[in-house]
Amino acid sequence: MILRLSTHRIQSVATPHMKEYSMSEGPPASTRRPVPDEMFSGRLKGSYLLDLEVVGVDDVAPHVRLITMASSDLVGFEYTPGQDLLFEFPDGDLTFRRRYTIRRLDPAAGIADFEIEIHDGRGPATRWAAKAEVGEHLEAIGPRGGISLRPTATSHLFVVDDSAMPAAFALLEALAAGTPATALLVTSHGAKLRPAPAGAPATSLVWLDQADLLEMLSDLHPAAGTAAYLFGERHLVRTAEELLLAGGLDRDAVASKPHLATGPAQRQPRRTVFQLNLGSSRTDGGSCPRCRS
Ligand SMILES: Cc1cc2nc3c(=O)[nH]c(=O)nc-3n(C[C@H](O)[C@H](O)[C@H](O)COP(=O)(O)OP(=O)(O)OC[C@H]3O[C@@H](n4cnc5c(N)ncnc54)[C@H](O)[C@@H]3O)c2cc1C
Repeated sequence: MILRLSTHRIQSVATPHMKEYSMSEGPPASTRRPVPDEMFSGRLKGSYLLDLEVVGVDDVAPHVRLITMASSDLVGFEYTPGQDLLFEFPDGDLTFRRRYTIRRLDPAAGIADFEIEIHDGRGPATRWAAKAEVGEHLEAIGPRGGISLRPTATSHLFVVDDSAMPAAFALLEALAAGTPATALLVTSHGAKLRPAPAGAPATSLVWLDQADLLEMLSDLHPAAGTAAYLFGERHLVRTAEELLLAGGLDRDAVASKPHLATGPAQRQPRRTVFQLNLGSSRTDGGSCPRCRS
């Protein structure tokens, strides 16, 4: 299922100077399989089981690893900007599931980029990303996620942290040229360290820390017609939503998605089943002794 590499060139969608691969017979046909109805109680209808290989690893900022993955399963893969894949990460003898936004995808070449924040908490996904090497394989399910650009909006406002910058940047790059947009980028790692979205000239990027964000949002009264997209740490998303609603934004104009919880409110691990390559023997979402998310 993974691309066999010999003369066809494979490069990161993002960085032309990454390690190159080749393949003798041109890109193979996709072999991705739809998620069977009986898996995840049918909740992931429309998603596919994917088998991916790491073909590039790059530190695009001290705290951000760009992981480039290739697979025949990604050839012709359809998704909308802002969607993600649910990955299964090995960690000792356990397996953990985490979601990562598709930062870029080239469906002709079957290559996709993901930007993983190397955060201080160092959970299983971060530990994997910090040591990821070309040639490793991961299983995933996708596309996931239902957030997309609001087509009737006259301007767009993004409030995101580092975990959600890939989603905001992918959506900003999908805006029609000239569409006004503002992105409030909350980071504890330092402003402007990671690469900005390509070709978004009507976008204003504001880098700030959390305290400055709250102050700014307290005074913000978005114009009618603004759509807001709030993604990131749960508390940040909730607070931003409350402040924007208080500032006069319609609830209908807000799309929010908590990406993670930090601190004591963090959810307890639960046992789940993923194990894509064991699909025939594990088809439910609740009893795998090795899997946690
Ligand atoms: C739809 C969706 C899309 C996402 N897309 C991306 C993406 O493109 N890039 C990306 O980097 N992440 C993304 N995330 C977040 C990602 O799924 C993980 O939650 C995150 O990387 C942490 O996983 P982990 O296994 O390293 O840590 P966990 O096991 O989840 O957490 C371990 C410990 O670290 C703490 N912690 C977790 N994250 C942070 C943090 N950022 N800062 C400080 N402490 C933290 C936790 O509170 C916990 O104590 C996305 C999440 C969702 C739901």
